Amino acid sequence: MRFTESVWRPSGSALSFGPDLEGNRLFDVVVIGGGILGLSTALHAARSGLSVQVLEARLIGEGASGLNGGQVIPGLKYDPDWLLEHFGPEAGKALVRFAASTADSVFDLIANERLAVPFTRNGWIQAAHTQTALKNAEARDRQWRLRGADVRLLDSAGIAALTGTSGYLGGWLDRRAGVIDPLSFTTELARIAAAARVGIAEQQQATKLRQEGGAWRISTSSGVELKATSVVVATNAYSDGLVPGLARTIVPLHSFQIATAVLPAGIASAILPEGQAVSDSRRILVYYRKTPDGRFILGGRGRMSLPRHEGDWAHLRHAMVRLYPFLAGIPIEKRWFGRVAVTPDHLPHIHSPEPGLIAVVGCQGRGVGLMTSLGKHLADHLLTGDPASLPFPLTPIRPIPFHAFRQLGVAAAITWYRTLDALER
Ligand SMILES: Cc1cc2nc3c(=O)[nH]c(=O)nc-3n(C[C@H](O)[C@H](O)[C@H](O)COP(=O)(O)OP(=O)(O)OC[C@H]3O[C@@H](n4cnc5c(N)ncnc54)[C@H](O)[C@@H]3O)c2cc1C
Repeated sequence: MRFTESVWRPSGSALSFGPDLEGNRLFDVVVIGGGILGLSTALHAARSGLSVQVLEARLIGEGASGLNGGQVIPGLKYDPDWLLEHFGPEAGKALVRFAASTADSVFDLIANERLAVPFTRNGWIQAAHTQTALKNAEARDRQWRLRGADVRLLDSAGIAALTGTSGYLGGWLDRRAGVIDPLSFTTELARIAAAARVGIAEQQQATKLRQEGGAWRISTSSGVELKATSVVVATNAYSDGLVPGLARTIVPLHSFQIATAVLPAGIASAILPEGQAVSDSRRILVYYRKTPDGRFILGGRGRMSLPRHEGDWAHLRHAMVRLYPFLAGIPIEKRWFGRVAVTPDHLPHIHSPEPGLIAVVGCQGRGVGLMTSLGKHLADHLLTGDPASLPFPLTPIRPIPFHAFRQLGVAAAITWYRTLDALER
């Protein structure tokens, strides 16, 4: 299906793992899901001396981690003041520190481990198209600047110079952020995890979990059964019925992306000349950047069901031409999509429904930095058992009431929000 091909490439040194598994051995940890979270957890746990096996139902990078926009953005959906108010002075302060450092965790890993990942670290722009969005940007800027972050407000001329498009009232530049090739990053994570003696098996779906004799038994699609002291379920937006109720705690949304052909130099230099990434402030937002080989890519919400033809990406092309009319004649060469896990409170959730079992969901479309960093914290937690090593409190699994209908509600809300966005143009 050529119309769902992404623009990203695995790193040149990417390994192919295959489905081989060693049964009848007690691992310290079995990680289910070979995305950024699973691999980061596995890497750090193995480096702390734990024996670790990763199970990935598809191929490494075929989940959201290898398909995303590659924007490495620190912070959470909420600003520092809200986090302090919501979580209290002590936990809130720790959470603000965590949120501030998530992009560092990606770029530090790339630098320290010499990962073959194309990247630019020149910031992320949150573009404001209304006065309300501008006010929010001002509050965000004040709160982060107070904490020493390298951020600044942009006026309409400043944002036009950085983006190459007019029409925004202003925005916010967060210089802690940057862009990477997410598939290279994911495959490089797998490579260094394997070098740290993590076992990685692809096309091995975990089909059942049960406790027996003080250990976890993990059944797999190949029929091999694994044993582990601890299990980490890192399946996020692709969660299935493995952990009862888990998939019903999130609304999995589709994010669609398009990439142009490689742009002629004169056109490429007129768009985002300093290489930042952008997300706009609309209710149904679009996000965009350039790739290292000079394509323009833009993403946004897509249909809830699977795409059927190229027309399902037409709204993104429309948004692209609205921003940059001179791209109208440039062909779109790639179209793809992936799943994003949204929780009702827009925060990541960490659950431990039974001793030795941990599950994490909910990245709200900002998981590249978040999940890289969270993996290190989860590994610390596996080693010490100390809940204080986790940035978020452990919470019970609470399925969303009327979950099946929620999907329909979201589809209706998206249509309504698109209408409101159109009125504000
Ligand atoms: C189109 C798109 C654009 C995005 N853009 C950005 C962005 O620009 N910046 C950003 O920060 N975030 C972005 N995100 C979000 C980001 O990609 C995710 O938050 C992040 O990759 C989540 O990583 P993960 O390891 O938790 O999950 P995933 O990478 O989705 O990994 C979960 C894995 O679990 C596997 N799995 C599921 N069930 C089983 C099972 N039973 N047994 C074995 N394996 C199983 C799946 O196959 C999958 O590979 C975007 C997401 C999408 C989809």
